[in-house]
Amino acid sequence: MRPRNSLNFSGGPGALPESVLQQVQEAVVEVPEVGLSILGISHRSDWFAAVVGELENNIRTLLGAPDNYRVLFLQGGATQQFSMVPMTLLRGKEHAAEYLHTGYWSGKAIPEAQRVGPVRVAWSGAAAGFGRLPGDDELSFSANAPYFHYVSNETVEGLQFHRVPGRDDVPRVCDMSSDFLSRPCEAERYSLIYAHAQKNLGPAGVTVVLVRDEALPEEARDDLPGFLNYRNHIQTHSNFNTPPVFAIYVALLVTRWLMDEIGGVARMAEINRSKAELMYDLLDGSDGFYRGRAAIQDRSLMNVTFNLPTPELERRFLSDALESGFSGLAGHRAIGGLRASIYNALPLSAVEQLADFMEDFRRAHRPAP
Ligand SMILES: *Cc1c(COP(=O)(O)O)cnc(C)c1O
Repeated sequence: MRPRNSLNFSGGPGALPESVLQQVQEAVVEVPEVGLSILGISHRSDWFAAVVGELENNIRTLLGAPDNYRVLFLQGGATQQFSMVPMTLLRGKEHAAEYLHTGYWSGKAIPEAQRVGPVRVAWSGAAAGFGRLPGDDELSFSANAPYFHYVSNETVEGLQFHRVPGRDDVPRVCDMSSDFLSRPCEAERYSLIYAHAQKNLGPAGVTVVLVRDEALPEEARDDLPGFLNYRNHIQTHSNFNTPPVFAIYVALLVTRWLMDEIGGVARMAEINRSKAELMYDLLDGSDGFYRGRAAIQDRSLMNVTFNLPTPELERRFLSDALESGFSGLAGHRAIGGLRASIYNALPLSAVEQLADFMEDFRRAHRPAP
């Protein structure tokens, strides 16, 4: 069976809105207002400068970020930010940067920072298998830390912070790759936010960095490679070298969709909440057939992770789902199980169809009474 694009529950790259795909299809041949293919337009053209400008403004508006924040479009994915952040904010520092180790992706960020300078892991969920996030009573942070880093949504485990951890007098840095623009964000409480595009914002190839001007060192440091210096990207409006023109253009179309068709991030958050509620109600009402992986209070509205009673049933679930057109439901290879990623672009109707499929599957396979 072939998967159906409207039923793509992939963890990343994630589904994109249908109306955006239609515009992209046209732009690959010819961007209407330019007369050239999006794949062959100069990154030095006035048109592309306007694309970058509009995308910067849209992201600033959607995040509610004040004027002293810069929006950058970089390459190297979120992974490059795992290094670029400490190279900028931790090098040569005496006090440790503080990190939360809440799952797979924060676990990738920590060793990259440790290569650069002192790091204190303020809390780790490793011993408990990353089944939950810390409560505020389990956290204490130093006022001297150069910065505090956390991942707002652990994509693999399906854990999401529903509050902003950390102290407001220490620069706060957040990897929002998998819940970027999925809900309102108190941007001014962050010194730096990064998110690659390929989960909620566009195709792979571009990573958004929102950075408060004052958070960066005054001097452009010449002990860093030019590309790894945020100042170079600020000065050139993300045109330091050839940027990923196509990915940036698609991200612009997605922000227009979010603003004009959806009506902004507050409305997006309501829709995302309805989708997640449908999924979690189904898990909770399944008499233990579907077992949610994440602690209830920390459940992600983006990645719903669950298990079935046996690995055999999980394999059967995946093959039956694909038979019905659903794709992307296998859990991350690091932990297995099942995962339904319900990013912004996935409509409520797709989640309803998945819920119907899951009900049928449970009826067919539940243990005999
Ligand atoms: C997918 C993911 C990453 C990895 O990003 P790359 O762009 O592949 O480097 C990092 N952080 C989070 C939270 C993710 O979900």
